[in-house]
Amino acid sequence: MDNVKTIAIDGPSASGKSTVSKGVAKELGFTYVDSGALYRGVTWQALRKGVDTKDPEAVIDSMYDADWDFFVQDGATVFSIDGDVPVQELREKDVRESVANVAAIPEVRKFVVENLQSLANFGSLVMEGRDIGTVVFPDSPYKFYLDADPEERAMRRYRELVSAGEDEKAHEVMESLKKRDKIDSTRKTDPLVVAPGALVIDSTSMTLEDVIRTVIDAVMR
Ligand code: C5P
Repeated sequence: MDNVKTIAIDGPSASGKSTVSKGVAKELGFTYVDSGALYRGVTWQALRKGVDTKDPEAVIDSMYDADWDFFVQDGATVFSIDGDVPVQELREKDVRESVANVAAIPEVRKFVVENLQSLANFGSLVMEGRDIGTVVFPDSPYKFYLDADPEERAMRRYRELVSAGEDEKAHEVMESLKKRDKIDSTRKTDPLVVAPGALVIDSTSMTLEDVIRTVIDAVMR
């Protein structure tokens, strides 16, 4: 475990964390972890069990009642819930709209954080999220905070959704992003903040390659 490295990449929605984290992981041969997928997984499980995601007790029960299993596939961690591996389902609108509220439930955060920490058993990781540098791996010397102007982030997310075949309006994407940013940065438990010692990268006018290079250079230094 001694030479296991954990690279923490935090930042708001659509700041480019996923693409950058995947690129860094690929180049370094580390395992990529999408921590948001776990919060989405808890949300998806609650929704498919017919649970009201505004009822914390019911969400917590559905989370603990399920059987969770983690494994590595194609350089990334994947999980199953009661034997099913949700991937596309985690991106659906109902999940997207409830996830920030579910992720604000302290017991949900505790469950997800413990599972994320245990993933270091798989070896060196690049983990993206909102609290990786502050809560999940606060002792990691490799912390980054990716940001970009809200308009640029909304446009990136809009293009992603349209190319995935979703029928979305640009202004609705902007509104939903703002709403999620607000919940994420003002919640009581582990709000999105820049971790002490994190390198802040504003990617608004940087290319993807530049951002990946900046992260790798800082890790290798
Ligand atoms: O990164 P992604 O958009 O998939 O995350 C979905 C939601 O999960 C975020 O809006 C946030 O509410 C929550 N999240 C979190 N902490 C993380 C990762 C995601 O609270 N480390």
